[in-house]
Amino acid sequence: MKTYGHYIDGSYVDPASGEWIDSHNPYSGEVWARIPRGSAADVDRAVGAAGRAMREGPWATMTASARGRLMHKLADLITANAERLAEVEVRDNGKLLAEMLGQTRYNPEWWRYFGGLADKLEGAVVPIDKPEMFAFTKHEPVGVVGALTAWNSPLLFVAWKCAPALAAGCTVVVKPSEFASCSTLEFAALTKEAGFPDGVFNVITGLGPEVGSALVDHPDVAKITFTGSDATGARIYAQAAKTMKRVSLELGGKSPNIVFDDADLDMAVAGVISGIFAATGQTCIAGSRVLVQNSIRERFTERLVELGKTARKGDPMLPDTNIGPVTTAPQYRKILDYIDIAKNEGARCILGGGPASGYPGGQFVEPTIFTDVKPSMRIAREEVFGPVLSILGFDDEAEAVRVANDTIYGLAAGVWTQDIGRAVRMSSALKAGTVWVNTYRAVSYMMPFGGMKHSGIGRESGIEAVREYLETKSVWISTAKGAPANPFIMR
Ligand code: NAD
Repeated sequence: MKTYGHYIDGSYVDPASGEWIDSHNPYSGEVWARIPRGSAADVDRAVGAAGRAMREGPWATMTASARGRLMHKLADLITANAERLAEVEVRDNGKLLAEMLGQTRYNPEWWRYFGGLADKLEGAVVPIDKPEMFAFTKHEPVGVVGALTAWNSPLLFVAWKCAPALAAGCTVVVKPSEFASCSTLEFAALTKEAGFPDGVFNVITGLGPEVGSALVDHPDVAKITFTGSDATGARIYAQAAKTMKRVSLELGGKSPNIVFDDADLDMAVAGVISGIFAATGQTCIAGSRVLVQNSIRERFTERLVELGKTARKGDPMLPDTNIGPVTTAPQYRKILDYIDIAKNEGARCILGGGPASGYPGGQFVEPTIFTDVKPSMRIAREEVFGPVLSILGFDDEAEAVRVANDTIYGLAAGVWTQDIGRAVRMSSALKAGTVWVNTYRAVSYMMPFGGMKHSGIGRESGIEAVREYLETKSVWISTAKGAPANPFIMR
């Protein structure tokens, strides 16, 4: 069993509290590592190191090109360590090795993309309307960034947040989820190996209300970037207002996957099933509501059940497993509660509908499908974050849009149709940060990702992500010779 330290100022250190938290393997149920239980004292130490690195260290005077080179080096190190890091993530969060390995192998692309962007963040000379004045804008790093991440894709979120933040010249303090901190702690050593100066990248672990909250409150943190539930996101948003921090939030969803009767049904069935059952439904972009045109509803539902039934549950480390355990015990209970709620509300369960027994850690849920779901039911409105699909019907495009948008969330949506005009109309009408047509779950370092409405604030990935970590400064230089004739009038 491994015992970790926080990573502060270039070294692994013990928590001030002298306390650690057990990290469980969700598949086996065993404690496999211990992570520090951080406190406000550790936060202060990490933020202090990040602040010094920002102001005084070699980072402060390093050229943007040199920052970019360090990020490229880090990308190579992630590639070299992709298998090891993926295995650590699976031990912590129980997701399939195939998926986590896909993520750790793709992860370096964020570092390369933003590393390449670091020295292209130009300001502009403004052809200003005032006489005898030279004016330009420049972009400066916002300051120390506090990055709070969720347990489902820990290192992907580190890349989404820290690659643009470091490209911008910020320094960071990462607080990963207490359920899956180990890969982020392992990753920290790679930043040192890549040559990042001490204090630029720090990791503190522990419980959200203790260490996460202290990071949000710290007066020397300029910006909070958060991935997690909308309830925690709203709390952090309000709390951050007290110290006027910049805030980006990547929150939950109740994403609709909309199937029209003109769709390629083979593609649609596979897309809907992967949209909900991949990662055991534990993704923010899970297509947890499938809206099916009534003319094909029965036929399509049968096909979903047929394919859903073939999902193999088991050890996430094995290549032929499709469905792994639920990551956390509270999440496991929450999913089962939602299944009961759906049954009590009158939704009809046509696949699964309960715990799956016989697995060592006792945290498996059967892939579950409900039909006869009404838009007003809680199962159609609230995020379950598990392998539970709700099927709703609709008659025409207008009704599909109405039902799809009838949610507080707006993270993603899928549309299955072979009518190009309809695809374009739907992509405009849907209130979601991402719309996929005849595909689902595609993400890229080049493509902005984020939510509308309660699904969040701001965008990650793509060029605009770096703006989340920059302040624009406007500089005015008078070219006039001598004092103005009337100093009492504003020029
Ligand atoms: P969570 O909100 O419980 O925790 C997220 C992080 O916040 C953790 O590091 C946690 O320790 C910390 N935290 C908890 N309470 C805190 C507090 N009071 N102050 C400061 N920090 C606190 O979320 P989770 O259960 O880890 O993740 C699941 C949620 O994340 C789902 O709702 C899912 O939709 C969302 N999610 C969103 C995205 C996205 O990109 N939009 C991606 C993945 C997950």
